[in-house]
Amino acid sequence: MLLDKDRIFTNLYGLHSPSLEAAKKRGAWHLTREMLAMGPDWICDQIKASGLRGRGGAGFPTGLKWTFMPKEVRERPHYLVVNGDESEPGTCKDREIMRHDPHLFIEGCMVASRAMRAHKCYVYLRGEYIAERHAMELAIKEAYEAKLIGQDNDNGWDFDIYVHHGAGAYICGEETALLESLEGKKGQPRMKPPFPANAGLYGCPTTVNNVESIAVAPTILRRGAEWFAGFGRPNNSGTKLFCISGHVNKPCNVEEEMSITFRDLIDTHCGGIRGGWDNLKAVIPGGSSVPMVPAEQIMDAYMDFDTLRDLKSGLGTAAVIVMDKDTDLIKAIARLAYFYKHESCGQCTPCREGTGWMWRVMERMVKGEAEHDEIDTLLDVTKQVEGHTICALGDAAAWPIQGLIRHFRPEIEDRINQYRLPRAMVQGAVIAAE
Ligand code: SF4
Repeated sequence: MLLDKDRIFTNLYGLHSPSLEAAKKRGAWHLTREMLAMGPDWICDQIKASGLRGRGGAGFPTGLKWTFMPKEVRERPHYLVVNGDESEPGTCKDREIMRHDPHLFIEGCMVASRAMRAHKCYVYLRGEYIAERHAMELAIKEAYEAKLIGQDNDNGWDFDIYVHHGAGAYICGEETALLESLEGKKGQPRMKPPFPANAGLYGCPTTVNNVESIAVAPTILRRGAEWFAGFGRPNNSGTKLFCISGHVNKPCNVEEEMSITFRDLIDTHCGGIRGGWDNLKAVIPGGSSVPMVPAEQIMDAYMDFDTLRDLKSGLGTAAVIVMDKDTDLIKAIARLAYFYKHESCGQCTPCREGTGWMWRVMERMVKGEAEHDEIDTLLDVTKQVEGHTICALGDAAAWPIQGLIRHFRPEIEDRINQYRLPRAMVQGAVIAAE
């Protein structure tokens, strides 16, 4: 279990002031000038050595990603863009950072920008995050006034940061759709390649990172890569914000050590499962787009990238959605199918047509109004959508349904049987009467 002295986010719950003065007392903006003076290579090497993997869902090594940026700035400026869209259902961690610890995050933006030789950073905020935007704008103003950022600032690296509000579309959390939206266009994903490090914002070298990935960077540099790498299992290191919702006694956001077991996470921070551990049915461990894992497989599993991948799921954003035995899993997944159908940008046929088709079949499955062989047809369609689209929304729509069929197929079959039973009885009665 993570000790208080090892927490990076010491104001996660907003118990203290988010102001510059209070943030400095908690350690933000300490030794920033010295860190920036070490230069891009040192910063990238430290982040690589820490083992930090992206906290936005994909889990790609952050330090390595930063090195993809060109080593020299030529005619095209470099940009850091931070993805604060946070629209994945179940996920609510970045908003706490931006509301309660904005200075730690702004400092992270500056350090990461130095690593990428960028003088400008854009923070793209989800449309609904009004309070977060106000908190960020206030903190940015304080940082400018204190000459921590801006031109000719006291930290020695010219740096400007801008907050941009999205309009609330889920797809703008996809990095290239986010860039399109930031440029003032319709938020639709771009074909890759070219990747943003080559041609990103306004066609210039750009790195897009999640808020949490950026906000942890200064503390890693201050406390040392080995310190951060000391948490969790190899290849899954560091501390992580978990957002736990659903059928636990006390849903919460908490920073914990990576690779904590699911049981420890829930017992220590959430007061256990509603109705006890025997009442646990399934868990979606990484936000709505990853497949669910049944109770017996997740109870003592490590909450990290590799373990959950081996369980055919994923850590994703670490938004842990807990479902007990009262849950109608078919209905829950049908609701998610509706969400993905609604949020498809419509550019590619398998996603545009497939998400709607899957949702309509799922709605019939909720009532049991389906044939048994339609389960395989549905599974087949998810495979035709998965991996055949421009962006990962197609996969995100397919995986929850695949998880349901993989682990709870008998439940779907029972529902179909129950629906057929009254009809068969009526038909039998009619025949008997004749
Ligand atoms: Fe748009 Fe869906 Fe294609 Fe992504 S997969 S580009 S959301 S249609």
